[in-house]
Amino acid sequence: MMIINYRSLKVIAVPLVLALCQCKSKENASSMQKRPNVIFIMSDDHTSQAVSAYGGMLASVCPTPNIDRIANEGMLFKNCFVTNSICTPSRSAIFTGKYAHKNGVYKFTALDQRQPTLPKAMQTAGYQTAFVGKYHLHSNPVGLDYYSVLPGQGRYHNPEFIEMGDTHESGWIAQGKRTEYKGHSTDVIADKTLDYLKNKRDPNKPFMLFLHFKAPHDTWEYAQHYEDFLADVEIPEPDNLFDTYEGRSDALRTQLQYIGSDWGNHTNFLKETAHLEGDAKRKMQYQLYMKKYLRCVKGVDDNMGRILDYLDESGLTENTIIMYTGDQGFYLGEHNLYDKRFMYEEGLRMPFLVRWPGQIERGSVSDGMILNVDFASTILEVAGQPELPGTQGKSFLSLLKGSIPSDWRNSMYYRYYYSHFETEPHIGVRTYDHKLIHYNRIDQWELYDLKADRSEMNNIYSDPDYKNVVKDLKEEMYRLQKELGDDPADDGSKPNIGELSGNPLYKTTNVDFGRGDISILTRFRSNVGGTLYSKCRLGDVPYSDKFEGKGMKTMFFRKGDLIFNDGYDDDSKLTIASNLLDNQWHSIAVVIRDKYPHFYVDGEFIMKGMEVISDDNPTHTFNIGAGVDFSGYNGYNFNGIISETLIYDTSLNEEAVMAHAEGMTPDGNKIVEWKN
Ligand code: CA
Repeated sequence: MMIINYRSLKVIAVPLVLALCQCKSKENASSMQKRPNVIFIMSDDHTSQAVSAYGGMLASVCPTPNIDRIANEGMLFKNCFVTNSICTPSRSAIFTGKYAHKNGVYKFTALDQRQPTLPKAMQTAGYQTAFVGKYHLHSNPVGLDYYSVLPGQGRYHNPEFIEMGDTHESGWIAQGKRTEYKGHSTDVIADKTLDYLKNKRDPNKPFMLFLHFKAPHDTWEYAQHYEDFLADVEIPEPDNLFDTYEGRSDALRTQLQYIGSDWGNHTNFLKETAHLEGDAKRKMQYQLYMKKYLRCVKGVDDNMGRILDYLDESGLTENTIIMYTGDQGFYLGEHNLYDKRFMYEEGLRMPFLVRWPGQIERGSVSDGMILNVDFASTILEVAGQPELPGTQGKSFLSLLKGSIPSDWRNSMYYRYYYSHFETEPHIGVRTYDHKLIHYNRIDQWELYDLKADRSEMNNIYSDPDYKNVVKDLKEEMYRLQKELGDDPADDGSKPNIGELSGNPLYKTTNVDFGRGDISILTRFRSNVGGTLYSKCRLGDVPYSDKFEGKGMKTMFFRKGDLIFNDGYDDDSKLTIASNLLDNQWHSIAVVIRDKYPHFYVDGEFIMKGMEVISDDNPTHTFNIGAGVDFSGYNGYNFNGIISETLIYDTSLNEEAVMAHAEGMTPDGNKIVEWKN
């Protein structure tokens, strides 16, 4: 009887609740309610060759039916391009609608969130803003009503998240409390997304949700249950897997992102291919790489199915614009490459699929050339908002509705700055028919006829038949460069974006703690702390807990404490001073004499530290204004002003240290002098 009563009560209650909801929404019926929800989904390094809606040789091997639903029920963009093909710069371009040289993020540095950003603008517009997954902007989330983010790159298995509210007392979320979740990151991120949609938002307000998967970024650790997926399948090879780079610039010959490269040990599969040589080895490396990558893609697609199903079940589909993309393209063996960076088609093209029922025609395809800097303007226009001040992007809303305006762009400007993998920096322009690339540091050029040579194997830069094409494309490239305000001499090494800078403020490899006597002098004024400087194994830290931290040196300021860290363990942390006030200038000096560091604060000798472990590799980077996290990426920015850092090749005496505290610059053999 009880059960029947309960059921009958429930049957009555449901329409009542619905009726109440309808009344309430009618009461609130305003333009607010009618504005569409926005779900922006981005996977890390998911490239269009591995999205079956784009066709291609992998479509039948690893279909992505769930992601494809977005295109089948909406629109697929064939020509969506990234403006700088690496992670943090692309994410920053998406948030700001600006190129790297305007938003300050050329490489893996922090986004200065004081500039206008998409989340802030959507929040101001009355949207509930939420972010779940990989953030990777190296600065605190801003403009979000809810977030749950991976610290840095995050972990694939049993990932830790930093939840909104778990900010460290220093003010930095990167140092905040981390909560571990059991399972694979792709599954956990989807779980958290569903939890947000079901439980964590106000159903009476429109929302903008950023859902960012970590997968399929290297090191491609797939969920255990995909172990057998593709196990017995031979993955087809791209026709240029054995590209010998004949006729191309030196950039392809000197890079280290080829399949089998020892850089990062991502695709060399040393153990599995030890018995093989030459082509057979490369073929096996390709197979092993692709299976790991595609198993991660499969995980993303399966979870996309869960999310799309929930949108249908909950009735959210109708009034939600959903976008799916990857933060850049990625090489799946083309030109014998993996990773991104290069401006060739597979690295340049972002997958981009959009569904908006009633507004976008089902199953439509657009050839229109759109860029990652356009997303913010488009989303803001969908929400009825003006574009971000200073944006370099354009809303492509009219393209979504099926027409390309007559003045729409026919060319795009690209610039990659030197960072990892010895990949040469380059500047380029792409039109519908051609691509011109200038490897500016080595001053070598490549030109491709994209219609005649889809795989970009024939560099026709010196072909007399293309003399006029080269001339026109150079003019176009320099026109765009000027229009976008890019200085060709700006190599991205010194981001200049103000007081709370990207991190690090300055980098050099010219500091070797192992050389013996050395002195480091810094003046700073802190707002909420962070890392003054750090020397770490940047770039070659393996993703493991085996990193012993030997040779790591970090000076940081936290809650009034000045701490020197010689290694990674808690044992190696030395508190130099306590109760130093925020917003006051301090001078600190570390003088290494006879292998022991001597610490000075405001000119006064404080203490002698532990013997300096002198196994530093001099090529490891010394960062000023930031530390590096476990995975080798910059994090823990300094929030405040560092006025000056001077590094001397000698152990300065106490008079010289006091002079620095009083504002003078001691004489001596300086190996680094950096002033803000
Ligand atoms: Ca990426």
